[in-house]
Amino acid sequence: MTYYCPECGNEVECIQGCGSTGYFCNKCNKLISSKAILTEAPTKKDKE
Ligand SMILES: [Zn+2]
Repeated sequence: MTYYCPECGNEVECIQGCGSTGYFCNKCNKLISSKAILTEAPTKKDKE
């Protein structure tokens, strides 16, 4: 599945560690909590 950053809407990179899964946003350059990530692409587009 693909997950998205709740802050910028960018796709987050899945990082699997020791028994836990984390997500990293390359745009925000920080880790995103699995509880905070979005499971669907945001509909809002700031560029438009
Ligand atoms: Zn982000």
